[in-house]
Amino acid sequence: MISVDEARERILAFFARLPGERQGVLDALGQVLADDVVAPFDIPPLDNTAMDGYAVRAADTSGASEASPRELRVVADLAAGYILETPVRPGEAVRIMTGAPMPPGSDAVVPFEETDEPLRGPNEAPTKGGSVRVFKAAHPAANIRFRAEDVHAGQVVIPAGRVLRASEVGVLASMGLTEVTVYRRPVVAILSTGDEVTEPGQPLKPGHIYDANAYSVAAMVRACGGTPWLLGIARDTVEDLTAMIRKGLSADMIVTSAGVSRGDFDVVKDVLAREGSIDFWTVRMKPGKPLAFGAFTAPDGRRVPHLGLPGNPVSSMVSFELFGRPAIFTMLGRSDWERPVIRAITRDAVVNSDGRRFFARCIVTRGEDGRWYADLTGPQGSGILTSMSAANALTIIPEDQPEARPGDEIDVMMLDWEHAP
Ligand code: AMP
Ligand code: MG
Repeated sequence: MISVDEARERILAFFARLPGERQGVLDALGQVLADDVVAPFDIPPLDNTAMDGYAVRAADTSGASEASPRELRVVADLAAGYILETPVRPGEAVRIMTGAPMPPGSDAVVPFEETDEPLRGPNEAPTKGGSVRVFKAAHPAANIRFRAEDVHAGQVVIPAGRVLRASEVGVLASMGLTEVTVYRRPVVAILSTGDEVTEPGQPLKPGHIYDANAYSVAAMVRACGGTPWLLGIARDTVEDLTAMIRKGLSADMIVTSAGVSRGDFDVVKDVLAREGSIDFWTVRMKPGKPLAFGAFTAPDGRRVPHLGLPGNPVSSMVSFELFGRPAIFTMLGRSDWERPVIRAITRDAVVNSDGRRFFARCIVTRGEDGRWYADLTGPQGSGILTSMSAANALTIIPEDQPEARPGDEIDVMMLDWEHAP
């Protein structure tokens, strides 16, 4: 038996980040930037107003108060997107809307709220040729967003290696970019095996089951940034399995489920061994334990890594979480595959009698005392997929810890912060 960490180390040694590709900025969400992104111009490109109000010469408002307003002549009305070239002279003001570039000569903006504009009736706002009363002195630079205060032309705005989130996508768009170079998303071919496994949507024969694994794994692949490619279901025959695996050899990785446990009827092992070099491991973990890892050889000589997951639906998901997801992250150029692990107080007893690391499905919530609590999601059999669906975390009970008692603090690995079921 090998430990979870050793299995993961051996697997990750096989993977490297994929080559860069040009990608639309929105589609690059979750991908890693391959090159520094350098600002092509200043942001903002010009000094502009942060408020709706009046662009003024601050000195003209000196000493203004409600009791002693300053009256300024309105010489223009300026919306965002327009430029005024005529300078603002002493005693003048330009009615200006948020985002509009500051007119020359002005050095402050007085918000509407500090003028008599709100006191006037509808449709009676001061317009060009009218006048406005200012009730409060403006400091020079008040309510101005200065040119380049966010980004200087030539500055590295997003460094290579950064994972693109919504904010990076926004920054890229703000620089007018439509594409960026990111490490390619891996295509992950997914193959279910077993005579009893049936495609959802097809009639179910007695004794058969629907294919849960291909879909749960495909969803995990997509959630972590890969592109799932469902190959279908291979019957437990040498011919069928061989043909299906060969079909998937253009992928960056092939994930199969079932047929890797010792002493079962399946032909998976024999075929895998013939089509490539595969190791069969027993990993010191629960759920899961049998795991296959190796590589097939594509017709062009390329080695295509293969991860063989156990057939039980929970084992399959947990094994993919522990080994497949880090592999996908690595291909994406990401090293942050480690899930957040926090300490939580278990409210249930967790029995771990057979010396394996126990990833029990649990719900982690914050108690009224502000501490984190873990509740098991009921029966923990590795075929009980709803125990996974009811969970937002997995316990990490170490191999050498035979039990955790109610009230004990344990490590839990958060799978999902957002959806506490
Ligand atoms: P095996 O690894 O082939 O011995 O399968 C272990 C268990 O997982 C059996 O009960 C299978 O029926 C079940 N199983 C195998 N493949 C799938 C699948 N794709 N979806 C759901 N259950 C499966
Ligand atoms: Mg089987």
